[in-house]
Amino acid sequence: MLTFKDWPLTRFALLSVGVAITTMAIKSTAYALTKSVGLLSDALESLANLSAALMAVRILTLVAKPPDEDHAYGHTKAEYFSSLFEGSMILVAAASIVVTAVRRLHYP
Ligand SMILES: [Zn+2]
Repeated sequence: MLTFKDWPLTRFALLSVGVAITTMAIKSTAYALTKSVGLLSDALESLANLSAALMAVRILTLVAKPPDEDHAYGHTKAEYFSSLFEGSMILVAAASIVVTAVRRLHYP
C-alpha cells in the first residue's frame, strides 16, 4: 500500500490538485463577476493545471509500484505520459483561449 511517508512526490501532487481547485474557483468567480475574457482564459488555464495535477497523482502512484512480470525495470517511464498529457492540456487550453478571444473580438 502506497503511503505519503514513502512517496512525498504524491503528496506534492495532491497539494497541487488543491491549489489548482482553489485557483480555478477564484478565477471563475472573478470571471462571473466581471465577464473579463482575460480572467476566463486564466480560469481555463487553471483547468489544464487541475487535469495535469490529477494525472500526476495517478502516474506518481503508478510509478511507485515495484517491477512486475510485465515491467521488469519498474514503472518509472509512465512519468513521460504525465508530461505528454500536461503538454496536451496546455495546447487545449491555448486553443480554447484563442477561440474565446477571437469570438470576443467579433462580438464584443
Ligand atoms: Zn506493471
